[in-house]
Amino acid sequence: MSGIWPGTTQCVITLGFDIDGVSSWIGRDPSLAERPGLLSMAEYGPKRGVPRILKLLDKYDIKATFYIPGYVAETHEDMVTEIIRLGHEVGHHGYMHEPLGTVPIDQETEILEKGISILKRLTGQNPKGYRAPQFDSSNNTLALLAQHDFVYDTSMHDNDVPYIHQIGAKKLVEIPVKWILDDFGYFAYVPQAGVTSAMQDPQSVFETYAAEFDGAYKYGTLMTMTIHPQISGRPSRLLSLERLIQYAKTHPNVKFMRGIDIAEYWLNR
Ligand SMILES: [Zn+2]
Repeated sequence: MSGIWPGTTQCVITLGFDIDGVSSWIGRDPSLAERPGLLSMAEYGPKRGVPRILKLLDKYDIKATFYIPGYVAETHEDMVTEIIRLGHEVGHHGYMHEPLGTVPIDQETEILEKGISILKRLTGQNPKGYRAPQFDSSNNTLALLAQHDFVYDTSMHDNDVPYIHQIGAKKLVEIPVKWILDDFGYFAYVPQAGVTSAMQDPQSVFETYAAEFDGAYKYGTLMTMTIHPQISGRPSRLLSLERLIQYAKTHPNVKFMRGIDIAEYWLNR
């Protein structure tokens, strides 16, 4: 038993689905808004990937977190309300998927507030979790999140268990991520956007996920998955995620938690 998780829990898995849709492509290069072929690939996420993922989660009785850029949320309102109806969490993921590394604070504040107001209108509450697009925060991001009453951030790579950012009098939980558990690097292939990762065999990616799980289980850490419905909503790749779920469930004391449940547990433990 690792001792850091609830009860006898040995390790925690959190499934985070980044529904970037077309926003990450238009955000990267506005001229891509005129490329219907590329946009159709991105739209596969909300259109086919998300419903299939929701069924998978239901089958295994797992609650997850969906990080949704404001633009994608406001153009897929029914999808957002369905995600909430099923008991999943919706987190903030920018408006047009803006990486923030070099964005001035005024503009970052505007993006953050725009996303908050869209998600609040659709879900009935302010988002409590934030994932920086491309995991690319600015020097102002954490302070802005604290100011806007977020409970957690999930964009940093410097740990494999949650930790606390102390920001003035406020505490913000960090739920760390890692590129090795992000499907984009394995599968993204979009020549129009200059993204040509080698398209890997889903079985070999499953082996990598399973090896990461073995490590997390041995050391009692946190496994934060970053999954893109436009990429892993495809049948063969979703099967590799399902195999991971099945593999994890053959081990005792493994818990699947939403980001907000981890953050609230971490604040109160
Ligand atoms: Zn994203």
